[in-house]
Amino acid sequence: MRQFNQMYVNGAFVSPHGRMTIDLLNPANNEVIGKVTMADEVDTRQAVAAAKKALASFSQTTKEVRMDYLQRLHDAVSKRMDDLVRATVLEYGAPQDRAKGSNALAANIFLHFKDVLKKFELTEVVGSSQVVLEPMGVVGIFTPWNSSAGSIAIKVAPAIAAGCTVVIKPSEMSAMQTQVLMESFHEAGLPAGVINFVTGLGEVVGAELTTSPDVAKIAFTGSTRIGKLVAKNALDTMKRFTLELGGKSANIILDDADFAKAIPMAVNACFLNNGQACIAGSRLLVPENRLEEVKQLVRAAVEKIKVGDPNDADVTIGPLASQKQYHQVQSYIRSGIDEGAELVIGGEGHPKGLERGNFVKPTVFANVRAGMRIAREEIFGPVLSILTYKTEAEAIRLANDSEFGLMAYVSSSNPERAGRVARQLQAGRVLINTLNHDPLTPFGGYKQSGIGREGGIYGLKEFLEPKAIILG
Ligand code: NAD
Repeated sequence: MRQFNQMYVNGAFVSPHGRMTIDLLNPANNEVIGKVTMADEVDTRQAVAAAKKALASFSQTTKEVRMDYLQRLHDAVSKRMDDLVRATVLEYGAPQDRAKGSNALAANIFLHFKDVLKKFELTEVVGSSQVVLEPMGVVGIFTPWNSSAGSIAIKVAPAIAAGCTVVIKPSEMSAMQTQVLMESFHEAGLPAGVINFVTGLGEVVGAELTTSPDVAKIAFTGSTRIGKLVAKNALDTMKRFTLELGGKSANIILDDADFAKAIPMAVNACFLNNGQACIAGSRLLVPENRLEEVKQLVRAAVEKIKVGDPNDADVTIGPLASQKQYHQVQSYIRSGIDEGAELVIGGEGHPKGLERGNFVKPTVFANVRAGMRIAREEIFGPVLSILTYKTEAEAIRLANDSEFGLMAYVSSSNPERAGRVARQLQAGRVLINTLNHDPLTPFGGYKQSGIGREGGIYGLKEFLEPKAIILG
C-alpha cells in the first residue's frame, strides 16, 4: 500500500505537521490502495508564507520569463502523462479514453496560456493615462475530485501568466494524481515558493486559506454548497474569487435535428466522466410528439454502453468515485421512481457482477416533470432525465427554469435557428451539434453555477488587478 505523506512547499517536498490520515480506496473494488496524511493549519500558514515571499520577485518577472515557465510546466506534465493517466484510472475510476483526453487537455492548458500571454498587453493607454494590469497576489486554489489535473491547470496557468504565486489544495480523494502533479511541477523548475501544494481537508486547509489575510484571491472549483461557504468566508478579507460550481445543464433537441445522431450524442453528454461532470447535459428536452422515437434511440444507445473495470479499454462508464457518491446517486434514482417518472432503462442497484465497486446502472427517466428532484438537482452520476416540450419557446423556458446555468446543448439542422435559441439560454456556454471544447473561449456559469470565467483571455484577466496611472 502506498503512503502519501508529502506536501510541496517552497520548492521542496516536506512532511506535513498534520498527523491525521485517511484511506485512499480503489472505487472499482473498494480496496484500500493508500494512506494519505492530511496537512493542517500550521502547514497551510507555512505554504502561504512561502508563496508571499516568492511573490515579491515573481510578480516583477517579464512576460518572456513567465512564457518560458508555462512551456516548462507543459513539458513536465506531458512527460508524466502515462503516470497521470494510470493514477486517474486507479484512484478515480475514469475510463481509459476519458483519463487520456482530460489529462492531455490539462497539459495543453499551459500552452494555451503561453499563447494568450504572448498576445496580451499588460499595459494599456486609456486616453492620456496608463492602465497597468498587475498580478493579484497569492492565490488559493481549491479543486474537486472529478477533474483533478484539469481543474488545477486551468488555475495555475493563468496565475503564472499573470505573475501570481499559488497554494493549491487539491481534493483529498486525488492523492495519487496530486503526487504526480507535484513531482512534475517541481521538475519544471520554477523559483521556490511560486507553486505550493497543501494536501488536506477542506474544513482545515481550505478554511485557513480562505481566511488568510495574505491570500488575495481564491480560485475554486467544486460544489455550489461549498462554493457559497468559501465566498462568504473570503469576504471578510475582501478576497477576489472565481467560483466554478455545479450544473444541471439542458440539452434541447429541436424538431429539425438529426435524431439518429443527436440522441446518442445527448446520452454521451450526460454520461461523460461516469456522469460525474459539472457540464453533464442531464436534462434532455425533446419535442412531445417525438418522445417514443427518442426513448427507442436512448435505449439503443445505453444498451451499447459497457460499464465495468476502467482498465478495460472497451469500458465507457467506470465506477463512481466513492461509496458516498454511489449512495447519493441511488437515492436520486429512487426519488425519480417515487415521484412517478418512467424508468426507460437502468434503475437501482449495481449492474450484475459489479457489486464490489461503486458501479451504477446507466439510467434514463422519461416523463420527468420540471418540479421533480431529478429535474432540478445535480445528481453527479449517469442518470438522464427526459422532459418534453410543445414549442420552441417552451423548450427555452424549461431550459432556463433552473438555479444553475453552466452549460447548454442544442441540436438542430438549422444553424441560424440553433444560434437564435442559444442566445436565449442562460448558460455560460452553449454547444450546438457538438460536445467539443474550445479552450480559448470562456468557461463558467450563470446564476448559481458560479462567478467569473476560466480559459483564454477571460481567465487571465481574473488574476489581474487594474491600476490606473493618471498624469497631471
Ligand atoms: P466540494 O465542493 O465538496 O469540494 C471542492 C473542494 O473544496 C475540495 O478540494 C474540498 O476539499 C474543498 N472544501 C471542502 N470544504 C471546504 C471549506 N469549508 N473551505 C474551503 N474548501 C473546502 O466538491 P467535490 O465533491 O470535490 O466535487 C464535485 C462538485 O464540483 C460538483 O458539484 C461539480 O459540479 C463541481 N464541479 C464544477 C466544475 C466547474 O468547472 N464548474 C468542474 C468540476 C466539478
